[in-house]
Amino acid sequence: MKYLSTRAAANDSTDRKRFCEILLEGLAPDGGLYLPERYPQIDDATLTRWRSVYHTQGYAELAFEVLSLYIDDIPADDLRALCEKTYTAAVFGTGEIVPLRHLEEGLYLEALSNGPTLAFKDMAMQLLGNLFEYELARRGEELNILGATSGDTGSAAEYAMRGKKGVRVFMTSPFGRMSPFQQAQMFSLMDENIHNIAVDGVFDDCQDMVKAVSNDLEFKRKYKIGTVNSINWARLMAQVVYYFAGYLQATQSNSEKVSFTVPSGNFGNICAGHVARMMGLPIDKLVVATNENDVLDEFLRTGVYRVRASADTHETSSPSMDISKASNFERFVFDLLGRDGARVKSLFADALAQDGQFDLGTDPAFKQAAIRYGFESGKSTHADRLATIKATFERFGVMIDTHTADGVKVAREHLQPGVPMIVLETALPIKFAATIVEALGREPDRPARFEGIEALPKRVTRMAADVDAVKAYIAQHCP
Ligand SMILES: *Cc1c(COP(=O)(O)O)cnc(C)c1O
Repeated sequence: MKYLSTRAAANDSTDRKRFCEILLEGLAPDGGLYLPERYPQIDDATLTRWRSVYHTQGYAELAFEVLSLYIDDIPADDLRALCEKTYTAAVFGTGEIVPLRHLEEGLYLEALSNGPTLAFKDMAMQLLGNLFEYELARRGEELNILGATSGDTGSAAEYAMRGKKGVRVFMTSPFGRMSPFQQAQMFSLMDENIHNIAVDGVFDDCQDMVKAVSNDLEFKRKYKIGTVNSINWARLMAQVVYYFAGYLQATQSNSEKVSFTVPSGNFGNICAGHVARMMGLPIDKLVVATNENDVLDEFLRTGVYRVRASADTHETSSPSMDISKASNFERFVFDLLGRDGARVKSLFADALAQDGQFDLGTDPAFKQAAIRYGFESGKSTHADRLATIKATFERFGVMIDTHTADGVKVAREHLQPGVPMIVLETALPIKFAATIVEALGREPDRPARFEGIEALPKRVTRMAADVDAVKAYIAQHCP
């Protein structure tokens, strides 16, 4: 399997790469995102075999089956061992890893948030940690991961990389902006290789600093700077597995279809659903749920993709979906436009840079977003979130977080008789306690292992939003 950039020229295959070559990279050199040259096709017999693999051997073995189709430069026994080390009941709380919970006729929640940081990002990031350690050891190299987080990504990355050989994490976050629980999760880590940097500024300041450091190519090379953001192909690939696992739990036979609703921000999670569908998983609809930051909902309704200014990005009670642009969206547009890399380049590198938007509303390809690719969308607001958290708790005794609530609200608007709808649960309510109290008048349930974490000693360095200060800190902590 080779990988190409979404901006690659169609008839030039000279710069295609193998999995381990793109594993530690972010963007392709031309500014595009990596995708496999083709999507492996899962026929009926394979899906039947995977049904039995998942139910008898478990999630790790299913992950190995899926990943083997995309990775041919890691020996099979090693890849299987990496999957088995990653997807254990000890790490993810249950043997099923992603159990399905029935809410009512035709509506399910797929639990993706029982990993170490209680958000779905653990599903991919835990694998990434093991893949990085493996590949860096094989090369005899080291990597310094520099990131910016408003909460979930940073903690998932830190818990995936803590104690890993060859990796250090430098994670910037806006001082005082994360929930107390999120701060406690990150700052209580005492591992030598994990560095928390609290920046006097907002999330965008953190992100700008990371970009500025990465754009200093000499510094980047000298200090072996890398990233683990959501455009990393390995993260997306790992997420494909739980679409299969959700399907296999909700159905008895391969003739049945299911739909998924996905609380979305950067389009990473749902893009994995798109990949699963392109592989032949019988998915009917892929429903994108957004919060007040409705860039994606607007596109799917109108064909206009309009990036927002940071000043126009709403700070909402589902903060992990507060985006001004959807960094993985280019992958879907590449497929939508028949994998025309030149056209993708002109839209994302030229039109977006000049006008901050592009319009595919009159393009015949746009109509296929719904018909051929199953995409639909909806939007949820703070009031919807509160009402949905309350109703879900009262009717089913199930407490959901604010992001999952956006999903449940939108899913209800897209139910179809006879087609199970699976909402992906993207975080647990304890991470966003203030809104749960607002909705329910009580504190959310807290898994026992998180009792009292706010009181633990904290390891964090506070810093001005100053690129040179970050560089100096990194230099000082890399022997
Ligand atoms: C990251 C995140 C999302 C958004 O996922 P994308 O892959 O960016 O679309 C939704 N909910 C939670 C809780 C998250 O952490």
